[in-house]
Amino acid sequence: MKGIFVIADGLGGRPTDLNGNTCLEAAETPYLDALATRGALGLVDPIGPGIRPGSDTAHLSLLGYDPFKVYTGRGVFECLGMGMDVQAGDICFRANFASVESSAEGLRLLDRRAGRISEGQNELEDALRALSVPGAEIEFLASTQHRGALRIRGEGLSRFIGETDPHEVGTVLLASRPTQDVPGADKTADIVNQMTQQSFEILRDLPLNKKRVAAGQLPANVLLVRGAANCPVLPSIESVIGARGAVIAGGALYRGVAEACGMDYIPVQGATGGLDTNIKAKAAAILRTLEDYDYVFCHLKGTDNAGHDKNAADKKAFIERMDSELFKVLIERVDWGRTHLAFTGDHCTPIDYGDHTVDPVPVLFVGPNIPRDPGTTFGERVAGQGGLGRFSGRVLPMLLGYCNWAPKFGS
Ligand code: ZN
Ligand code: ZN
Repeated sequence: MKGIFVIADGLGGRPTDLNGNTCLEAAETPYLDALATRGALGLVDPIGPGIRPGSDTAHLSLLGYDPFKVYTGRGVFECLGMGMDVQAGDICFRANFASVESSAEGLRLLDRRAGRISEGQNELEDALRALSVPGAEIEFLASTQHRGALRIRGEGLSRFIGETDPHEVGTVLLASRPTQDVPGADKTADIVNQMTQQSFEILRDLPLNKKRVAAGQLPANVLLVRGAANCPVLPSIESVIGARGAVIAGGALYRGVAEACGMDYIPVQGATGGLDTNIKAKAAAILRTLEDYDYVFCHLKGTDNAGHDKNAADKKAFIERMDSELFKVLIERVDWGRTHLAFTGDHCTPIDYGDHTVDPVPVLFVGPNIPRDPGTTFGERVAGQGGLGRFSGRVLPMLLGYCNWAPKFGS
C-alpha cells in the first residue's frame, strides 16, 4: 500500500479569520469535502498541547520524531534543503543579505532584507566564494530573494553561538558570542564575526551594488547569520518503519527536514515555496513519485505566507487552489483501493495573529483501512468532532501504520 502525506503550512486558523469562520472553513473545497466524507477527521497538536510550534520542530514531530530530543536548530535544514553536503561537526546557518553602512560604532543596519532583493543573487553568491577565514572552510548558497544558507566546516566548532542580526534598523550588527560556556564556542563566534566583516568588504564595491545604489535601491552588502545548528542524529524513517519515502517541497527548509529524515528529494518545476507555486505540477509529481516509493510527502507553503501577511483572502484562495489543483487530481487519479492519504497543517497561522499559534490543527485521513466519520466537510469545528479525536504529532507513522508498515513495539 502507498501513502500520501500532504502538509499545508500554517493551514489552521481561528474564528477571527473571516467573520466567525476560519479560512479553511470559509473556503469552497468540494474535493476536500468529498475526501472528508470518505474518511476520518481529528485535531492534531503538531508537537503537543500548548506548545507553539516552529515549522521545523512541527515537521519533525509530525514525521515521527521527538523535537525536544533531536532538534539542534534551523540552519542545518536550510543547508540540507539547498542541497549542501552536511557532515558531523559542521555548523550551519540561515543566512540573508542585508543592507548596512559603515559607522564609528560598527556596521549600521539599513534593511534586514537588502530591500527584498529579487535579482543578482548569483553574482553575490559568486563573490562570496572568496570568503576565507583561517581554520574554517565556508560555503554559502543563495536561495530565494534575500535568503541563503551558510555552512562552516572546521575542527572543534560549536553551535552554541549567538546571531549577528540586530533585528532593528539603525542599530549596529551584533558580534556573535558564545551562548554557552562550551568548547569551540569562542572559536566559532570568532569565525562568524570575521566572516561577517569580510562579507561586507567583498560585497560593498560589487558592480551589482553600485548599480543598485545608483538606481536608488539598497545594496546587498553584508551577510547576516542566525539559527546556528549542527547535524542532528536522526534514524531514517526507512530504518525505523521500513517504508521508502520522497519529498516534494518548494521551500528549502522542508526539503531539508525531509532529507534529514531519509527521504529522497523530487525536484518539481515551478514549486516556489510561495503563493504562486505550481500546485498542478506538484500533484503530477506526487502521482509519478508514488510509482517508485512507498510514500510521498508533499509540502505547500502558501497558506502560511498568507497567514503571516494577515491576508485572509489570499489564504482562502490558496486553499481553494489546493482543492481544485491537487485534491481533485488525487481523487480522480489515485488508486484508492491501495492508497492512504493524510492531510493537515504543521500549525495554525491565524490571520489576526499573523504568526504560529498553539491551537490544534484539523487532520484528515482517507483510505481503505480508515473508518468513515459522519462529517462531510473539512474544517476546524467539524474536525473537532471527528473520530480520530485529538492527538499529538506522529501523523506520518499513523499514515504508514494504516498502510501496514508499522513495526511492532514489544512482542
Ligand atoms: Zn509552518
Ligand atoms: Zn510560518
